[in-house]
Amino acid sequence: MPAGTPSIPRNKRWSAVSASANADVAYQKFLKEKPNVYEYVCICKRPGADDDDEDEDEDEDEDEDDAEDGDNNEAECDGGKTCRCFKPAADYPDHPWIFSRAGMDKMITYRIMLDLRDPDSFSMYTFNDHSGYGAIEVVQNMMLDFEEASGKWQQQWAVIEALAWLLSGDFLSPMVMIDDGDLFQETSILLEQMFLAMLSELEKEGQLEAHSDVHNIGFIMGLIAGEANTLRSDGSINIEKSKAKSYHGQNFISYLLAYASKGNITMRGPSNIDDIIAEGEELSEQENVELPTAQKDPWKWGTAFKAYKRNAVAPYGGRPRTAIGGDRLDITTYSSAERKRASFTKKDPLTADMIKSIKEGLVLQLA
Ligand SMILES: [Zn+2]
Repeated sequence: MPAGTPSIPRNKRWSAVSASANADVAYQKFLKEKPNVYEYVCICKRPGADDDDEDEDEDEDEDEDDAEDGDNNEAECDGGKTCRCFKPAADYPDHPWIFSRAGMDKMITYRIMLDLRDPDSFSMYTFNDHSGYGAIEVVQNMMLDFEEASGKWQQQWAVIEALAWLLSGDFLSPMVMIDDGDLFQETSILLEQMFLAMLSELEKEGQLEAHSDVHNIGFIMGLIAGEANTLRSDGSINIEKSKAKSYHGQNFISYLLAYASKGNITMRGPSNIDDIIAEGEELSEQENVELPTAQKDPWKWGTAFKAYKRNAVAPYGGRPRTAIGGDRLDITTYSSAERKRASFTKKDPLTADMIKSIKEGLVLQLA
């Protein structure tokens, strides 16, 4: 998009917040209940399932099976009113798409953060790639959260669940569009490295197995594998051969397969997961892929993140930064005068009430 050309606002405006009222009610209820943040709950559709026709067939088959059990899973997602969203996974042991409440909560927090960094939804034009760099800012905040939760694997897993959901649901896709391709690639690889660090942590904690306290480990591994595969096959990231001993994007799927095999875990989720696994297995044999064995930070994620924190602070959109993450691109942190200047109508698109309702997660579409 040429500089100065306002993009056509998408059909998503904060001023029309009533569209998903059912989801709002269910979500508010969900927030209040919170009996156990590490309880697993269902969502009725796999994130990203809409983009994937083949998968619809699978879903239909499952629906038929469910119908025999007397369940009704045919309904459209209505945010938990009649669909399975937010229902305890323990009540639906065969339901494939489950998240911990903590993970779901994190996902919603990050989604709100993404929405607040999207000028289109406020009918504003600020600078090219605002939403893309905004998404970078959000994943940087996720990495900071992950680091802060160091030593608490359940909290770290919640960040990972949110990451997997947002990636596969395409909420982070604006990131791919930023003009700084190196930053995109570096960030993506660091996220993968973070996931490998998570798996090694789970292994250390005795949680890397099919029936561990992490009930969705195969599902999350499958989602992340699917995303990593897409980034490579569509050329969004190119992995160069490197002599570096630490992770630089090479053999990612093979590493996942090695962990899966150790824990007797089946990766699942994306409709092409069988192909991804077959390809990964072939590569594993060729490359003789082995997991690192160091006790402390085997993937050197900590070291890589430290370097990234130092380096990835270039300014964008005329908003200087001294640290990664934060809220520089959050439109509610702009002054009213700044928002007026960027607004198509030259009026501040945000009222105090609107900011409040957005931050309470009033607008929510899960699927
Ligand atoms: Zn639903």
